[in-house]
Amino acid sequence: MHFGYDGKVAVVTGGSSGIGLATVRTLLESGARVALCARTPERLNEVAAELSREHGKDRVFAGALSVLDPEAVSAFAENVQRRFGRCDLLVNNAGQGRVSTFATTSDDDWRAEYELKLFSQIHPVRAFLPMLRESKGAVVAVNSLLAYQPERHMVCTSSARAGVQNLLKSLSVELAPDVRVNSVLIGLVDSSQWSRRFAAREDQSRSREEWYGALADKKGIPLRRLGEPAEAAAAIAFLGSPAASYITGAQLEVSGGLSRHI
Ligand code: NDP
Repeated sequence: MHFGYDGKVAVVTGGSSGIGLATVRTLLESGARVALCARTPERLNEVAAELSREHGKDRVFAGALSVLDPEAVSAFAENVQRRFGRCDLLVNNAGQGRVSTFATTSDDDWRAEYELKLFSQIHPVRAFLPMLRESKGAVVAVNSLLAYQPERHMVCTSSARAGVQNLLKSLSVELAPDVRVNSVLIGLVDSSQWSRRFAAREDQSRSREEWYGALADKKGIPLRRLGEPAEAAAAIAFLGSPAASYITGAQLEVSGGLSRHI
């Protein structure tokens, strides 16, 4: 799918794996130059080298950093400005979920989770805002359906994600009309989080197909499967593209129909 990013520059946080990496690929295939970041340099460099081979060295830029480090994020934005001269799309994707009930979440866990969920939005938006204003660009946040439909084994994550949706709504108003701000709400997308859980499955004799099928059934996903990272990437690329030019402050579910609210 080509989403019309010729001449544009996109930044994807957490771009070395899963949904982030699929988004980087979709944006490159759609004509963008892409800057990606993640914390682990080995994996990031490996991915960046592969993408450079496929799409050209001049179209890929990678920075190893945590989005929770404001100085590092600012330096990354300066490097993107130097390297590509602009930023049209910021995809705030970096992060992971936390499995815990109210009883098993300590105060430190609550603080860490709120820090991750909120500052993984705040730091990149602040750092890239001047470039986004100049390009009349867009922010797309990768959030979870848990924001609207909390699960009892992910109490802390669900609560923090609801706060993120609220923040994004405020941003969509404050940054308008220059910058559009939207989000995707992910249900269950097959990425490294789920591969790790599959690898650690209780019954090691169960095949990948059986385990994933049973998971989809247990969760009650109407489309009866997990999503592919590329399917989330397509929604992200659409919301960031000129095709979504009158959409801001909105959320798009990528969940195979998992939500129960209307
Ligand atoms: P992956 O674990 O496959 O990828 C996460 C990416 O984020 C990696 O590149 C990781 O690299 C990077 N990352 C994590 N923390 C930081 C950080 N502090 N700073 C910079 N980079 C970081 O996860 P998914 O693709 O599954 O998830 C992508 C997003 O979607 C996450 O925010 C996740 O919470 C959300 N989501 C996913 C769901 C799913 O079913 N897959 C469901 C709901 C939400 P490194 O570790 O090297 O930093």
